[in-house]
Amino acid sequence: MTPFTPPTADQLLAIRINAGIDELAQTERFQHAEPDLVEAIVAGVGQFAAGEFAPLNRKGDLEGAKLENGVVRLPEGFEAAYHAYVEQGWNAIASPAAHGGQGLPFTLACNVLENLGAANMAFTLLPMLSVGAIEALEHHGSKDQQAMYLPNLVSGKWSGTMNLTEPAAGSDVGALRSTAEPIEDGEHAGKYRITGQKIYITWGEHDLAENIIHLVLARLPGAPEGSRGISLFVVPKYHVNADGSLGPKNDLRCVSLEHKLGINASPTCVMSYGDNGECIGELVGAPNKGLAAMFTMMNNARINVGNQGAQIAERATQQALAYARDRVQSARAGSPDKTPVAIIEHPDVRRMILRMKALTEGVRALLYYCAGQVDRGNLGDEAARTRAEILVPLLKAWGTDVGVEVSGLGIQIHGGMGFVEETGAAQHWRDSRIAPIYEGTNGIQAADLVTRKLGLEGGEALVTLFETIAREAAEEFALSALARDCANVALWMRDDASLDDRLAGSVPFCTMAAVCVAGWQLMKQAAAVKAGAAPELAATKPVTVRFFLDRIVPEAAGLKAGAVAGADLLYALPAEALVG
Ligand SMILES: Cc1cc2nc3c(=O)[nH]c(=O)nc-3n(C[C@H](O)[C@H](O)[C@H](O)COP(=O)(O)OP(=O)(O)OC[C@H]3O[C@@H](n4cnc5c(N)ncnc54)[C@H](O)[C@@H]3O)c2cc1C
Repeated sequence: MTPFTPPTADQLLAIRINAGIDELAQTERFQHAEPDLVEAIVAGVGQFAAGEFAPLNRKGDLEGAKLENGVVRLPEGFEAAYHAYVEQGWNAIASPAAHGGQGLPFTLACNVLENLGAANMAFTLLPMLSVGAIEALEHHGSKDQQAMYLPNLVSGKWSGTMNLTEPAAGSDVGALRSTAEPIEDGEHAGKYRITGQKIYITWGEHDLAENIIHLVLARLPGAPEGSRGISLFVVPKYHVNADGSLGPKNDLRCVSLEHKLGINASPTCVMSYGDNGECIGELVGAPNKGLAAMFTMMNNARINVGNQGAQIAERATQQALAYARDRVQSARAGSPDKTPVAIIEHPDVRRMILRMKALTEGVRALLYYCAGQVDRGNLGDEAARTRAEILVPLLKAWGTDVGVEVSGLGIQIHGGMGFVEETGAAQHWRDSRIAPIYEGTNGIQAADLVTRKLGLEGGEALVTLFETIAREAAEEFALSALARDCANVALWMRDDASLDDRLAGSVPFCTMAAVCVAGWQLMKQAAAVKAGAAPELAATKPVTVRFFLDRIVPEAAGLKAGAVAGADLLYALPAEALVG
């Protein structure tokens, strides 16, 4: 596996142009996000990721996480790297200053995860899941809960998990069966006895942090059926005493680890709560409002998963480029010189490389555009908040699809050496494959786009986005045509299509929309580079953007047929006939 070189210049460009960090730094809340600090963070975390996390990526894949006598152990080196990460304060970038965080924009927290995840995606799930727990407690926890859990979660001394999934409750979280019984008397009066099994819990057990704070969804006695009857609980691995010291272990355990296609260094745990009837948790927020509380942090969690698309695409592209420059095969077609050349000289390999670069930069542009809108939303800008809501499914679904496509192209560029494990190209593809599945499958993201997100402001929020792009991209024929197509599909879905027809076209529409927004944001990058921003990118950026606008945008326009085809053909055969 090739070393990781942080793409600092491209990240800084996206942070400036797409997230608009300079404008954010003019607000009181984000006044510290000045250019010098932003550059120091982006370069610093890039170096840290390359030096501490990247060297463990292959080792983590080969050795994986192991469950030994109820404790999950990671390969040698993980503990030291995690402690270095905590000591250097990277975990606390965007958390509130009141709980020991640095209070910087979410955009910069995205950059921390982008660099760490490109270096080592499986490892980076540990801090990524903690962010979810921090947000859930920050927005819905009581003052006491915040004081008890947040400082150590923010520093990274403790880690957090999100426990939604159960064997019969995957996409349909409302089907979950774990229970929470109120405790009336004794030491734990006012708390709850949690019972149930959760599956696929990322970093549900490990020994890198001193305590693990589980956020668990469960049902109170007599709760309504479905998602209206779910409550959220905070369930620590070790009880926390009033003085903040750790008490005895709670009645919860990791039953087993899943054997997976990839991200082998991320322990994916089957968790059992209350085997002995003594698992104690506290209610977070109001009874039966647990799913709403989870949704607060799900938007950001989905952005973080979309971010993984950019991460793995970057890493796979770097690896493929290094191989393509070294591997010599055949002379250049049509050349009088019959000396074999590096495969990077062949047109089809060039096509793959440029596609990888253009797609990676496109996802990055969309990521930081989305992150900047989240930051503006947090500052009270309602239009930005709505825009971010629309962008989240686009980024999560398309970004992660790009991760899989680009890492697949990385294997292709390696030829047979891509299919054998020793180059490491295969690991990127194996690692990438989870991202379209978790945090709401990409099908669920697309459904969200054509239902809830299409409904925002009666559909106007979505249509206005595409009309803006069509206007601003007037001189980019393919992009403005795609934007008009997207607006027309949105209007058809809103005004004329049945729910089945909308859902049937949701995935192609989601891809069209994502490519459209990414193309628009890349167009802005190209203009900025032309005007003198990022001289390091002056040669490459115009080419990758041109590739995106001339080749990827027209492909997305071709998806319109599928987006408006409706559901009839999909149901032309009954399920039994499809099975045959
Ligand atoms: C490695 C890994 C880590 C994970 N980490 C966590 C974690 O930390 N915490 C946690 O709670 N969960 C976690 N998950 C669970 C993950 O979020 C679920 O796997 C995911 O939500 C899908 O649920 P499912 O696997 O039950 O698939 P299903 O819901 O059974 O879906 C199967 C297929 O049917 C489709 N489908 C289902 N319902 C619909 C519908 N209504 N409309 C259209 N299509 C539909 C899906 O898109 C998918 O293609 C993790 C999973 C894995 C594999």
